Amino acid sequence: LEFRRVLFRSCRPGARMTPVYVTQPCMPPLGEFIPYLETIWRNKWLSNAGPVHEQLEAELAQYLGVEHIALVANGMIALTIALQALEIAGEVITTPFSFVATSNAILAGGLKPVFADVDPITCNLDPDAVEAAITPHTVAILPVHCFGRPCDTVRLAAIAERHGIPILYDAAHAFAVRKSGASVLREGTMSTLSFHATKVFSTCEGGAIVCRDKALKDRVTSLRNFGFIDQERTGMIGINGKMSEVHA
Ligand SMILES: *Cc1c(COP(=O)(O)O)cnc(C)c1O
Repeated sequence: LEFRRVLFRSCRPGARMTPVYVTQPCMPPLGEFIPYLETIWRNKWLSNAGPVHEQLEAELAQYLGVEHIALVANGMIALTIALQALEIAGEVITTPFSFVATSNAILAGGLKPVFADVDPITCNLDPDAVEAAITPHTVAILPVHCFGRPCDTVRLAAIAERHGIPILYDAAHAFAVRKSGASVLREGTMSTLSFHATKVFSTCEGGAIVCRDKALKDRVTSLRNFGFIDQERTGMIGINGKMSEVHA
């Protein structure tokens, strides 16, 4: 509202007021979308890792240059499931300069967010501040690649290793971001992505979790589907975080 007020004030008096949106999705021609819908209608398979879902997962892995990626319903669910997959209890050091979902996910997981300050130039977590915030209760670090600018992953990795704790990157702004020629999504134990309508790559609502290894991806895949480990058995307490065929 503030933005629009400022914008309108700058218009000449009596001019027609047309809103200018801060972000607007880049949509494909509708004709390119329809054949996918026809496929889904033919398949009559709407969710639970259908063929379109599996195709997107495989193509994203290739496009992003990562081995293990699991699609989920949105970026908040991605954070929630990723934290759950780490099986941790205690304090999570994170940034105060992020979208509220980052801290919400920590609290929703019964963990305690501990804010460390950001670097005034990069807006990313300051590794010195992270180091200073570590206590015997610290169980993970959750940095954000703010506005898609990569964190100081080298120094953060050194701190995490020294204290034997995982790093979960909230990479909601960092779709396809590369650092020194490699995907920034390969950093840390896991990274989460958001495919919300306002993000660089969108599925209307959607997200993904990038995992360091296959075992972690299998765990995430169970957690996003009520904890099912096969057709009949649940091996953990999961939630419903699946992406539908239409979104995929
Ligand atoms: C958008 C965003 C999220 C949440 O993603 P949704 O897909 O909207 O749930 C989480 N973290 C950051 C940093 C974001 O910008």
